[in-house]
Amino acid sequence: MEKQFAQTTIELIQGDITKAKIDAVVNAANEKLIGGGGVDGAIRRAGGEAVVKACDDIRKQQGGCPTGQAVITTGGKLHAKYIIHTVGPVWNGGNSGEAALLASCYRESLKLAVENDIKSIAFPSISTGVYGYPTEKAAAEALQTIRDIAESEVTVPTTIQFVLFDDATYSCYADALTKL
Ligand code: ADP
Repeated sequence: MEKQFAQTTIELIQGDITKAKIDAVVNAANEKLIGGGGVDGAIRRAGGEAVVKACDDIRKQQGGCPTGQAVITTGGKLHAKYIIHTVGPVWNGGNSGEAALLASCYRESLKLAVENDIKSIAFPSISTGVYGYPTEKAAAEALQTIRDIAESEVTVPTTIQFVLFDDATYSCYADALTKL
């Protein structure tokens, strides 16, 4: 399923983000930029040593990546040239700034994409795995944030994919995109 907002097409795909044929993939990382499970583990395994080393270098230089921010590395062995690592909020009931932090992940990732001349980018469903953000709420927040950016910024990637791993997550994003 897809929908166009200004110059940007938002596409929903079910599958494995490590296989995406795209300029950049976004990783749902942690603040230390040390390998985790879930999508982070899959992206690091597929990207290989160059990605692990690039994350280690960033950790040494700046101590990691705060929640809501993003950093960029090589894509290593991925088809994607770049990986943008962003740190989603841990869900804590919804009154701890989670929505603003999640929106910031998408904004900061797209800012790095534009700075690096990235035209196509794939996001996973940030925060809805181990970090526990309810998928329905996360999908609405993610898509609304991207729509706002597409309709207000001059330069935005022309293709923004969500690569969603399982049926339930795909359905939540499809419902949210239909309502958008
Ligand atoms: P977080 O810690 O931000 O919650 P997780 O990696 O635990 O991140 O989960 C985020 C989402 O990524 C979940 O919907 C999970 O099913 C999904 N996911 C796991 N592996 C992959 C993959 N290879 N490609 C795309 N999505 C994936």
